[in-house]
Amino acid sequence: MTRLEDPYDDSMRPFKLLEFPERSHGGRLGKLELPHRHAIETPHYLAITSRGAVPHLSQDNMRRHSNIKATYLGLEDFVENAPRRTPPLFQQPVKNGESPLKKFTTLPRDTVAVLAPRRMPPVNPPNLNRKSEQAPNRSIIISTSVGFQILDVDEFINDAQKLSPDLVIGLSDNVVGEAPGKRRAEKMVDRTAAWTRKLLQSIATPGDPGSSTASYALAPILPLSVAAQSQYLAQLEDEMDNRLCGFALYDTACLPDLPERLYSGVRLSLDEVSTPHKVLDEVAMGVDLFVFPLVGAATDAGLALDFAFPAVQAPIDGPSEQSSERQPLAIDLWTKDHATDLGPLRKGCSCFACGTHHRAYVHHLLDAKEMLAWVLLQIHNHHIIDAFFSGIRESISRDSFEHDVENFNKIYESEMPEKTGQGPRVRGYQMRSEEPGEKKKNPSRYNTLDDIRQKIADAPSEPDATMKATSLENQGLVVTRESKTSIGDELDK
Ligand SMILES: [Zn+2]
Repeated sequence: MTRLEDPYDDSMRPFKLLEFPERSHGGRLGKLELPHRHAIETPHYLAITSRGAVPHLSQDNMRRHSNIKATYLGLEDFVENAPRRTPPLFQQPVKNGESPLKKFTTLPRDTVAVLAPRRMPPVNPPNLNRKSEQAPNRSIIISTSVGFQILDVDEFINDAQKLSPDLVIGLSDNVVGEAPGKRRAEKMVDRTAAWTRKLLQSIATPGDPGSSTASYALAPILPLSVAAQSQYLAQLEDEMDNRLCGFALYDTACLPDLPERLYSGVRLSLDEVSTPHKVLDEVAMGVDLFVFPLVGAATDAGLALDFAFPAVQAPIDGPSEQSSERQPLAIDLWTKDHATDLGPLRKGCSCFACGTHHRAYVHHLLDAKEMLAWVLLQIHNHHIIDAFFSGIRESISRDSFEHDVENFNKIYESEMPEKTGQGPRVRGYQMRSEEPGEKKKNPSRYNTLDDIRQKIADAPSEPDATMKATSLENQGLVVTRESKTSIGDELDK
């Protein structure tokens, strides 16, 4: 491997590239070392949180049974009452130097917390472009648990200062859906440039007295070509100081053309990659950190991830079109095949779920809609993704990354298996709203039994101690074993 000295290495910046090949070839290894936090070896991922916790994992389970070192938090999860009333997050009493964000969410102190304005994946507001014109030059639309709201840039910066996360992703003016026209794109760049400058000015320079809670910033890079945002990128080159730790990329396609001066910043992809193959592609392009819904989506779908990198099995000979012979990326625990399977979720997996439970149990839990199913799957899936990234880092350091990726692509199917079962209940803040008046994503499991309600209403008399069971049943007041089964069948339809 060709090793280059990083000409822009800055001893104050928390991210260091350990070694890298020549520009735009293969992956790169780095280390993010923030004071009093886990050192994050890159490439790595941030676990997505929803309203302060990794979905399905309580903070103690996360500590005990996962190796999650870094988390991604969206401010919109916490500010439904702002600015009218002070949200509870900002009323959290803290001691000197503590982060209210971590204290409120009870995230472990050494876990890296990255604060962004929006959740991942974000819920796109309808007619965003028109709505944002209310205060277009200083705000974006966010989605809170009580609906869409305006988030002003000053408010966001103020909140980020108060909450003191370890890294903060700046506000950006993104257009959702269709590609923006030339004039709209110019506006996006101008606004994002102004907002990023404001954010950087608000952050205390590390090393200053009293700045123990100083955050570092990740500047958003817009999903536009490098040429379209060249002025903004030039501004970032000038601002590549201690406070600017790196970049959050909404589209990694512009990575190869980024100015060289920006090369030494940590690169976080917000691309919403949905398969491990796409993660590998982006690692090859030089992405250091990922925030992707892949793990959570698999867990919600009842899928146990079942892949490793580098892939262990010998590649299948023959043309790559024979995809039917490739291995699936995950096992669908909803299917009846697992009803009596006493094997672990993945053979040889050392996670808590595989060590203590078997497939049949998780299948049963899913079937019974028990929350524990998703807890166990989430523990297993994070374990697989931890091992996946550790494999990527080893492969890059062995200089066999390209070969290992080729092998991986030959062995595994290119897409995740289709979801067959119903996931846990989807909340309003998780749904992508497509049009007004939409129906609920998953129907309620319990309904009023109208015919029984009618029977009760029509009952000739109040029940008493002398009444026979059959008359109670006829009046709809008890449900015998036989009628219970038919009601259960009715509900499952
Ligand atoms: Zn496992």
